[in-house]
Amino acid sequence: MPNPAAHLPFYYGSISRSDAEEHLKLAGMQDGLFLLRQCLRNLGGYVLSVVHKLQFYHYPIERQMNGTFAIAGGKAHCGPEELCEFYSKDSDGLCCTLRKPCNRPDGLDPQPGIFDNIRDNMVREYIRQTWKLEGESLELAIISQAPQVEKLLATTAHEKMPWYHGCITREQAESRLYSGSQPDGKFLLRQRQEKSSYALSLIYGKTVYHYRIRQDKAGKYSVEEGTKFDTLWQLVEYLKLKPDGLIYYLKESTPNPDVPSAAMAPALPAHPSVSAPQKFMSQNSDGYTPEPIGIGKKTRILPMDTSCYESPYSDPEELKDRKLFLKRDHLIIDEVELGAGNFGSVRKGVYRMRKKQIDVAVKMLKGGNGKAERDDMMKEAQLMHQLDNPYIVRVIGVCDAEALMLVMEMASAGPLNKFLYTKRDEVPVNNVVELMHQVAIGMKYLEEKNFVHRDLAARNVLLVNQHYAKISDFGLSKALAADDSYYLAKTTGKWPLKWYAPECILFRKFSSKSDVWSYGVTMWEAFSYGQKPYKKMKGPEVMAFIEGGKRMECPPRCPPEMYKLMQLCWTFKWEDRPDFAAVETLIRTYYYSIAVKVEENLEDGVKITPA
Ligand code: AMP
Repeated sequence: MPNPAAHLPFYYGSISRSDAEEHLKLAGMQDGLFLLRQCLRNLGGYVLSVVHKLQFYHYPIERQMNGTFAIAGGKAHCGPEELCEFYSKDSDGLCCTLRKPCNRPDGLDPQPGIFDNIRDNMVREYIRQTWKLEGESLELAIISQAPQVEKLLATTAHEKMPWYHGCITREQAESRLYSGSQPDGKFLLRQRQEKSSYALSLIYGKTVYHYRIRQDKAGKYSVEEGTKFDTLWQLVEYLKLKPDGLIYYLKESTPNPDVPSAAMAPALPAHPSVSAPQKFMSQNSDGYTPEPIGIGKKTRILPMDTSCYESPYSDPEELKDRKLFLKRDHLIIDEVELGAGNFGSVRKGVYRMRKKQIDVAVKMLKGGNGKAERDDMMKEAQLMHQLDNPYIVRVIGVCDAEALMLVMEMASAGPLNKFLYTKRDEVPVNNVVELMHQVAIGMKYLEEKNFVHRDLAARNVLLVNQHYAKISDFGLSKALAADDSYYLAKTTGKWPLKWYAPECILFRKFSSKSDVWSYGVTMWEAFSYGQKPYKKMKGPEVMAFIEGGKRMECPPRCPPEMYKLMQLCWTFKWEDRPDFAAVETLIRTYYYSIAVKVEENLEDGVKITPA
């Protein structure tokens, strides 16, 4: 997760108390001189080091469960920067107000924390092992789900660590430690007979020492009266660096003999929503429409739990059969109509593959359609066939039988605008951020492949479920030649003008940058919960409105950060507009920063309003 203090010039990262004091000394020791550093003990916490009357004061800042930051007993703030700003105006219990930031000397970057790397590796390994993902699918799963996985890991990661021995007696612990060599610092962690209580057993001078791990009312762990930690794995990692009251520091773990060593390496806790039956279920239609998410539940179905996260052809056995044209007898078409358009209708169906059956949406060309419509559908099919991304509706193929049919992955929760409109009272705004981040990931992929969508709008973002969006409708899309940066339309057509950037309307020029403009309009639709953009205006009036320097207003529930991003997407000149690589980074940063609140909303069914 990005560190909300990383950009602050007075943030030093993971440095010790004495290093902090050294920096403050070098900077002159004026009253109110201060710096910020990472706290090793709690997840996402900081320490504020301040000088007053030639003395040092160190205040731990905790990241609270609702994602806010506070010094014990002080007011909560939405970020470390806001907290420092507050204390620069009001000492509110500190030794003095913060007067002068002690900025890092030129060329000195914040020191990375010991947990930063561990955490990233653990998230990666957890996703790799739980969903058996590799390559691009793995990278995308990390980007889109890191906050959820990190939270899960933080509280349960110790359970399958090699040094964790579960519930064994003190005698069993001793016999395990005494077996084999007995170097100083050899250790294990075990659960005590009394539930939820743990003990650390450690060898020093051929003797085993046992330390009870306490858990305070807030759930924090400590060895006896020592330093407190949010999680057991943090406690162990910290004690590997310094003894903190133990007779020796933790050095060598005793592997748990009950866990096979192959499974041990980065063995991680099981994800509750991907038990075997669930995986199986996700192959049939139920997997696409998970039960209502949230209230009172700790887990929810992640995109990787659905059967349409990876391509149905990611299995090499299935790939052998992959062709654009599908056999009619492998396709069952239901009477259920999912939607309709000028071309015809979209029906529910099932497609039989070698090893599995998958739910599909079948776009059927209406009778009376001529060659032009057939050609259009074939173009759309051929273009979509080249794409493979979890956040884009995949085409399975086309089938030429009673009609020409485009067979696609099913996204049964329907278009984003309709979904948000009907569920506007149930879907928290953070959930909208999560979905729009996924759309940004899909669009960034298109940009990298040099494809322009040309019809990005909330109606063309389909939902697999409340937490999983896919971009669809590639009817207007174009694949650009490698050295082209835009597509020049020969003539104007039936265009969605309200979603189009000025250069599309003025010069018929379409690029990923014009898709960014449409992304901004799609964001507006999403954050206004399915309202129609530029409500009373006609398409051509919108152009005059934009040229006059005006833009749509911030929707009532839209966070200011997201409105800022929309405005950036509506930069008039395409050269100055951000690309999707930048847009995705911006929305990701915001999404990660509020992710803790997303979880809270789901569990409690309430909205958290930052203090
Ligand atoms: P389209 O003309 O492609 O926008 O499709 C019309 C409607 O059909 C959409 O608004 C959806 O309600 C439905 N639809 C299209 N594609 C799918 C799909 N892959 N999964 C589920 N529903 C779909």
